[in-house]
Amino acid sequence: MIYLDNSATTPIDPEVSKAMWPYLNEEYGNPSSKYYTLAENAKKVVEEARGHVASLLSCQPSEIIFTSCATESNNFVLKGVAHYYKNKGKHIITSKIEHKSILETCKFLESEGFEITYLDVDQYGQVQLETLKGAIREDTILISIMWGNNEIGTLNNIQELAKYVKQQHSHIFFHTDATQVLGKIEVDLSKVPVDFLSLSAHKMYGPKGIGACFIRKRELGLRTKITPLLHGGSQEDGYRSGTLSVHNIVGLGKAAEMARLHLKEHQSKLLKLEKHLVSALKENFPNIKFNGHPEQKIPGVVNFTIPGINNELIIRSLKEKFAISTGSACSINEPSYVLNSIGLNTLEVKSSFRVSLNKYLDYSKVSDFCIAFKEAVRNLMI
Ligand code: PMP
Repeated sequence: MIYLDNSATTPIDPEVSKAMWPYLNEEYGNPSSKYYTLAENAKKVVEEARGHVASLLSCQPSEIIFTSCATESNNFVLKGVAHYYKNKGKHIITSKIEHKSILETCKFLESEGFEITYLDVDQYGQVQLETLKGAIREDTILISIMWGNNEIGTLNNIQELAKYVKQQHSHIFFHTDATQVLGKIEVDLSKVPVDFLSLSAHKMYGPKGIGACFIRKRELGLRTKITPLLHGGSQEDGYRSGTLSVHNIVGLGKAAEMARLHLKEHQSKLLKLEKHLVSALKENFPNIKFNGHPEQKIPGVVNFTIPGINNELIIRSLKEKFAISTGSACSINEPSYVLNSIGLNTLEVKSSFRVSLNKYLDYSKVSDFCIAFKEAVRNLMI
């Protein structure tokens, strides 16, 4: 199987699973227990992992809390800010092409009386600063804009958007969903003034079921107040109760450490493979159309349309040997609202594919895919 669906999830790096192993076996202590070595060991590795996540983002370790996934982080920030600050305003801004964990949370908040503005994106899937400016109101409390899109790979200029918001409307919180970009582009929160950021380990060669949330501290190191999703034993400074998943946290920490150490190398490998894929596809399909921004994009994510070709039939015919997708694994059975929002019609959406690469691939595997893809399209035409 040649796996080309790395925006859905990545394979786990063997270094990551090796680091996790002891904490699934002999080192089973609860980091919230006191005094004895087993608990102290667990606490120590959790703090080391927190340090690795913080180094990846260039923030303080005390600004990171562990969650179960990016879906939880997104729910936590949106509901947490909405509920805590509802007396200051009930208006939230997001974009039309966010992940479902943002859009469905917004829908839920609408049912509670919040008003949500869903911003249009341009033909590449970017939120323009002018569009955002025009949507800000007196009662806006939160803006949530994704850093990189999971279907088309387009990057938003989060630095520009967040800087504007924090300089002109410092009371409005800014959240970004960075799930798809970590380890692939530089994310430096000492330069990008967002208040909250969500991430997940399984998109960067880490385990599933573990994520984190960055919560920026106020002046003088004061905590930002936000209503928790989970109430209980007050772990994670009271932001997120529940016994910490130590083995998963160790896995996230290792994945974050490797993402930081190998960022440049990883980025350049993905870009080389992407270039190879794009030129092979162009050669074989003269009428191909690529979706998303041609330059401001996540390395290794390629979304394209081949007019007249049914994507599901092709993907199924390749399924024994190649894993590619029509779009998000989180919106199965629905035509892509992301492609719709950047102007594709229903027929074009049904002829679109997402191929997302990883560090274990090489030119020959990418070429094998292009040959098999061409063959599958030819068989369909007969
Ligand atoms: N946001 C984005 C942009 C994603 O791509 C995903 C995963 N598809 C998520 C959030 C949800 O991540 P998780 O699987 O960790 O809940």
